[in-house]
Amino acid sequence: MIRFIDVSMHDRNRRGAPLDWAAIRAAGFGDVAIARTTYGDPGGFNPSSPYADEMLLGAKAAGYPIRIGYHNLIHGDQNGINRQVDYLRRRLDECHATSGMADIEPYDELKSNGLWPRWDDVQRFHDRWYALDQRPMMWYISRWVWSGWLGLPDLRRLRGPLTNASYGNGYAPSVAGWASYGNRVPNVLQYTSTANVPGASGATDANAFNGSLAEFASLLNTPVSGATPPPVSVSPAIPVYPNYKPSDLASPLVNTHTNYAHPSETRASYYQIIEAANLICEVHGLPPIKVGEFALGSNTSMEYTGTPSQQFLRVTDTRRPLASPFSYHMDGRAADIAALRGTYGDALMRDFAQAVLHYANYFLEVFHSTPYAEDDGFYVKDGVIVSSSWIGDDVVSTHFDHDHLAATYNAMVTLTAALRAVLESRIPVLGGMIL
Ligand SMILES: [Zn+2]
Repeated sequence: MIRFIDVSMHDRNRRGAPLDWAAIRAAGFGDVAIARTTYGDPGGFNPSSPYADEMLLGAKAAGYPIRIGYHNLIHGDQNGINRQVDYLRRRLDECHATSGMADIEPYDELKSNGLWPRWDDVQRFHDRWYALDQRPMMWYISRWVWSGWLGLPDLRRLRGPLTNASYGNGYAPSVAGWASYGNRVPNVLQYTSTANVPGASGATDANAFNGSLAEFASLLNTPVSGATPPPVSVSPAIPVYPNYKPSDLASPLVNTHTNYAHPSETRASYYQIIEAANLICEVHGLPPIKVGEFALGSNTSMEYTGTPSQQFLRVTDTRRPLASPFSYHMDGRAADIAALRGTYGDALMRDFAQAVLHYANYFLEVFHSTPYAEDDGFYVKDGVIVSSSWIGDDVVSTHFDHDHLAATYNAMVTLTAALRAVLESRIPVLGGMIL
């Protein structure tokens, strides 16, 4: 997965200085830069887009190979659409952009005067663009705009990658954000508008592409056929859990579910979860989780209260008495993993939760709250990353001092096998036999 930001003059204004693309790259958002170049019709409603040259030429100078200028499309007749195409083409040239992106959004300022873009505008912009220009166009059409404003069109009509916006927990791409709509799987997911990116701003839009840079570059240079679905550019290092059931998404909230909310699938035992957790640590370069200090399979304390020199993650709780009927802990089907709270322990618990979230769709529950302003905590419910507001204050307030995990049996069998394969692939294979 590669990640990259998209910016406008709002980011530039928040920063109060030119963006520092080297620092942005160092923060994990290299190689792809997206900046607003144009908005509207130069013959009509046409807010300015200052700093576009500075931002995109700055990215070029910093060695970003993919630079995309985006245009906020507005409603118009054919002449108005033609002017918008000409306007964007000229500005992409001036900013040395390698591709364009059409941003389809019903802003309040457009709704109030009837200028929000319709599906007919999108199609005419598309056709005019490709009649004149060879640069692939990306399409920023989020699911809610597609369903609420465009009339649920077939998005296979559009050549070029599709971007969805779905903010989930505001920290990491959500499983739900990649679901298909309009007969297409989105290629890019804008997963937050509040990323703290050194070199940009403290509230920057961040995007993910579920593949390599080479695959993304190829997508931008390879037109998508209008007659067949585009190639699905999802190539995760870990296979997606095959038994994942969309019906699980309808599960009730955490404070009303019981141990029998998933009768069709056996839940994993704590020791399976701990095994997977340790493999996740190894794959992601985290120290191994200590076990054995507390009697496994028993009720202990959620919070680890050792001495500051003992800075490790530990399994602290697996089974609770029947007095906790709403918890998977009741019969040993969950694990709590904790470090001593403090500068180091808080970061370790956060890093572990972040690593686990790479495999969110394997877990029934992942709960961890952090004290850091740049994240919203880490919450998974029935395979889906959810926000702190969705999961509720009861869960948030009780999960600062540990990471809580629960999963199904099948999911843990599949995940541990996949993680073992990743680790195995890192071990060089020696040819021949040494005698
Ligand atoms: Zn727990």
